[in-house]
Amino acid sequence: MIKIPFRRINWITSLFLIFTALTALIAVPIYLWKFGIDWFQFSMFFFFASATTMSITLGYHRLFSHLAFKAKWPVKLATLVFGACAFENSCLDWSADHRKHHKHVDHDDDPYDISKGFMWAHIGWLIFKMKPEQPINNVNDLLKDRLVMWQHKYVHWIGFVVGLVIPPLIAYAVEPTWQYALGGFLLAGILRIVVVQHCTFFINSLCHTIGKRPYNTDNTARDSAIMAVFTCGEGYHNYHHAFQHDYRNGVKPWQFDPTKWMIWLLSKVGLTSQLRRVSDEKILLAEMREAKRQAERRLAAVGTPEESHPLTEKATEMLHSFSQRLTESYEELEQAISDKVTVSRKAMTQWQKETREIVRHIATMRGSVCHPA
Ligand SMILES: [Zn+2]
Ligand SMILES: [Zn+2]
Repeated sequence: MIKIPFRRINWITSLFLIFTALTALIAVPIYLWKFGIDWFQFSMFFFFASATTMSITLGYHRLFSHLAFKAKWPVKLATLVFGACAFENSCLDWSADHRKHHKHVDHDDDPYDISKGFMWAHIGWLIFKMKPEQPINNVNDLLKDRLVMWQHKYVHWIGFVVGLVIPPLIAYAVEPTWQYALGGFLLAGILRIVVVQHCTFFINSLCHTIGKRPYNTDNTARDSAIMAVFTCGEGYHNYHHAFQHDYRNGVKPWQFDPTKWMIWLLSKVGLTSQLRRVSDEKILLAEMREAKRQAERRLAAVGTPEESHPLTEKATEMLHSFSQRLTESYEELEQAISDKVTVSRKAMTQWQKETREIVRHIATMRGSVCHPA
């Protein structure tokens, strides 16, 4: 039988999470079935969901936790006010936890350590208090920020008024009936909180479980294009853990990252500045190093003798010559990038393609199929 450590339960947080989840699952469908939804209610839900999510990603995360750019006070104020509406704690506490997550990722001091399980990383860490409780000692810069400290003091009041009282008031102003006001409360208020919260939580759980790791396999962080859609671009989590101070998470031009677009747009009107970017050379080098490690792992997998499928002489020969070629061509590419002679992404893609083809070929000769690492 599983023993629940009742003394460690964070009752206020837990009751809030249960109340909002049950309301979203039971009251919202009943409301929609009885009264339906119109364009105004949908737009209000969409506006509050986007404003809250963007405040967490642009404000709490990239601005305050990672100092990835500088922002003028209107940007700070807006993200602190709408960030409070996500009910994910104050920006000060959020940043303290998040900085710990990056410093101790996948280890005991990581508040949402995925090695303790998917559910722990998703929501368990909020329900159960850490023992012993961790001191807040990594946000000295934020302790000096008057807006951050003002939000820290009144965070629940701000979240309650702006996130739960204003939506039904707006709805009532548009159509003065109690049903319409209730719709504003349930949809742009409660349902929006649950959706935004779980999207954020999925970054800590899903983006440390499923997805590719093109930049670094030393930690569990993964890139997920699907999660990027629901989190204003935060799904590219492997890149983010490799280069946490870059204002971009979806670093490739085609990757969906509305937060980076918004930061860039705000810089054009002077509201943000000093956007931090990792150089293309450094990024490509990280990708190459990781591609080489993964290719070596695949080669080691096909090269390991197996009694049922021993490698033929020809395959062994090919394996050796390929390993040599792999290292040589990698070194050439690395040199070219370091010297900034030619930054050739095409060459790397070709190199990765060749690697995959030859590994597959050797595996076929041996009679087994080799899966990439
Ligand atoms: Zn992470
Ligand atoms: Zn981060």
